[in-house]
Amino acid sequence: MARRGAVEIVSEDRIGGTGLELTGRVTVAEDRREYRPQLLLTDEGQVAKAECTCTFFRKQGLKAGPCPHLVALRLAYAEQEARRAREAGPRAGVTVETRTYSRRRGDAAEVVQVTLDRNRLKLRWGRAGQPMRLQALRFNTAEEARAAYFARVARLEARGFLDATAG
Ligand SMILES: [Zn+2]
Repeated sequence: MARRGAVEIVSEDRIGGTGLELTGRVTVAEDRREYRPQLLLTDEGQVAKAECTCTFFRKQGLKAGPCPHLVALRLAYAEQEARRAREAGPRAGVTVETRTYSRRRGDAAEVVQVTLDRNRLKLRWGRAGQPMRLQALRFNTAEEARAAYFARVARLEARGFLDATAG
């Protein structure tokens, strides 16, 4: 009845001090019905409140366990969270970080230092032991700055620079 794909999360509202209110829409093609399950999840992930527009829920409430629409909504949310965590990856939380890269060129060593500082990106480069040049870039959001930072780092690594800060 509550197959994958039949449920859609239509809204996620964070309610301060209470938790997260999820509203779903479950379309059941066979009987051309649409149900609206709603869950209030605490920050610990527990169900604080549940409601659904189906007959089962109206008659039984949660006495006989949650209706399939509520189960489907809870599962859809768990899947969505897992997907978000996968996409964000371990870099998601990085807002301030500096890496120093170097590469030998003839007798000298080229050094590039990349700094991510919230929505700013600073690049310093030059030859080891000499004054370095500086370029600072400012982005609208920390996410854009982070993306530019990791793109810059990847490019340096592709050009044969080694991360001297890696420990
Ligand atoms: Zn239901």
